[in-house]
Amino acid sequence: MRLLVVEDESRLASALQRGLQAEGFAVDVAATGPAGLDAARHGGYDAMVLDVMLPGLSGYELVRRLRAEEHWLPVLMLSAKDGEYDQADGLDCGADDYLTKPFSYVVLLARLRALLRRGAPQRPAVLAVGDLTLDPARRRVTRADAEVALTVREFALLDYLMRRPGQVVSKTELLDHVWDASVETAPNAVEVYVGYLRRKIGRERLETVRGAGYRLAT
Ligand code: CA
Repeated sequence: MRLLVVEDESRLASALQRGLQAEGFAVDVAATGPAGLDAARHGGYDAMVLDVMLPGLSGYELVRRLRAEEHWLPVLMLSAKDGEYDQADGLDCGADDYLTKPFSYVVLLARLRALLRRGAPQRPAVLAVGDLTLDPARRRVTRADAEVALTVREFALLDYLMRRPGQVVSKTELLDHVWDASVETAPNAVEVYVGYLRRKIGRERLETVRGAGYRLAT
């Protein structure tokens, strides 16, 4: 099994490399975002351990680009929780698993082995509801064939709703699934983002069901 470690902190990178080599993996290290992207595109790896904060290109952007090019290398993301990013963002952008620094090496190894057992993820299917389409892999949304630009959070919200067309989804359910529970979220966050989304996909498509929640019209 061949692994790619993309990490700019050289001590952590070499500790990971030594530890993983001792487990029998072949391990290459890249120290910048662009070098990591290049290696991931061409290297024939079985999985990648990817730091978020990297010079040149963030880990999020790296994995987003990789998925947009239809590379399905399993990705385990590493990040210090710095408030700016959270786990939901990591998984939204196409990573397969996420570990917060500082992490235990034993846990890293277990997660990595689980990822390798699962193998490369299947390309997710494109969702379609009426004239809306959402491509989770390319992170692309279209309305009547015209592209709609969404933020990460708007995309995650629409993704959740498009997997449940015609169903009433409560505000609590949306908060639980679209927002990271560990981050303080404004009580009106759902209303605010539903409002943003309505402006972009058409007001009539996202109905308010009084006292119950929201429903994506089919
Ligand atoms: Ca870093």
